[in-house]
Amino acid sequence: MYDVLRRYLEWSGLRVRLVSNITDIDDSIINRANREQRPWQEITHKCEAVWFDAMGKINVARPTDVPHATEYVEQMVTMIGELVANGTAYLTDDGVYLSVERVPDYGLLVHQSLDDMLAGGGDRDVFGADNKHHPADFVLWKFSKPGEPAWPSPWGEGRPGWHSECVVMSLDLLGEGFDLHCGGQDLKFPHHENERAQAVALGKRFANRWMHHGFVVDGEGEKMSKSLGNVANLLDLMEHYDPRAYRMLLLQSHYRGPVSVTQDNIDASVKALAGLDAFAARTASVAAADPDADVLAAFRERMDDDLDTPGGTAVLFDTVRRANAALDGGAADAGALVAAVHEMCAAVGLVLKGAAEVPADALAKAAALDAARAAKDFATADALRAELQADGWTVETSKQGTTLRR
Ligand SMILES: [Zn+2]
Repeated sequence: MYDVLRRYLEWSGLRVRLVSNITDIDDSIINRANREQRPWQEITHKCEAVWFDAMGKINVARPTDVPHATEYVEQMVTMIGELVANGTAYLTDDGVYLSVERVPDYGLLVHQSLDDMLAGGGDRDVFGADNKHHPADFVLWKFSKPGEPAWPSPWGEGRPGWHSECVVMSLDLLGEGFDLHCGGQDLKFPHHENERAQAVALGKRFANRWMHHGFVVDGEGEKMSKSLGNVANLLDLMEHYDPRAYRMLLLQSHYRGPVSVTQDNIDASVKALAGLDAFAARTASVAAADPDADVLAAFRERMDDDLDTPGGTAVLFDTVRRANAALDGGAADAGALVAAVHEMCAAVGLVLKGAAEVPADALAKAAALDAARAAKDFATADALRAELQADGWTVETSKQGTTLRR
């Protein structure tokens, strides 16, 4: 979803610097390394490679920056030192903690005060070490146990807490008061709240806005593996279906809601893509035109309203229908509608097959054919048509000019 957002913002004319950090040290990595008797670096390198390979397959552009937590440990130690020095962080026997009572508006992201949060009880992950000053206090620096990866610090060897990793990397690369912080809705609390709390405790401005996305779920509460045959995750999905189908499926869900991955939804996405590909093939040689301004305005209106991608794709499919009808009827505005379809696809990172399949020499012949017709040189036009047909093209000539199809 954030690739869609990034592409849309860039398409809208904004320059985007997207930082996507890699947590390459945490408890689950250490546990897995111990379980599999492998160095933890081997696990993180492999997972990162698998991740970016999968992202590449679904046409997710590489982030501008991909910082690794382990490259920032020194800066994390410095930040934690500042928090200790200003009295907002304190030492216990298992690490360094932040005192959330020293953060004036702690709970802002979940719209809950500290008292409400505790009254709410169990489901929030606020309890931890028993020698904390307050149950919601969280670890900034964790002392290492023997055999665990460790870095030096003034308080003892250890590793940074997850919440400290993100705040240091984002403030270093994006600076104070950056525009947007994104993440899954499960990260809103405690993770994002705790990132923000550290910045506030340092007297720094953090993210100006936040976006939290919903989860990928199976339909009807079924396991994905059950409803979609062998498909249990994104890699499986891409083995069995056109990877673009996943982007299409996401586009047709709102980012804040759950994304339902069911057989029906995947089939519908595959079918929708086939329609778009056929459209791209049909219109491959339609003369270039300025995209229809009203269509793009309607598309922007939807997308600018909290990234309403279902609304945006509805405009896209409506425009495909109108353009097909215009081409069928030989109407003069078909070119502008066709161009608008390609603009909208580019804006959300949908690559259509068929669009670039007409090679330049065939397009040149089609253009020469149109020029010959305009000059009433029908002998030349007929000769060019025959040449194109001999090359396997179906040649359709209308008032808008010649289109080529296989
Ligand atoms: Zn984070």
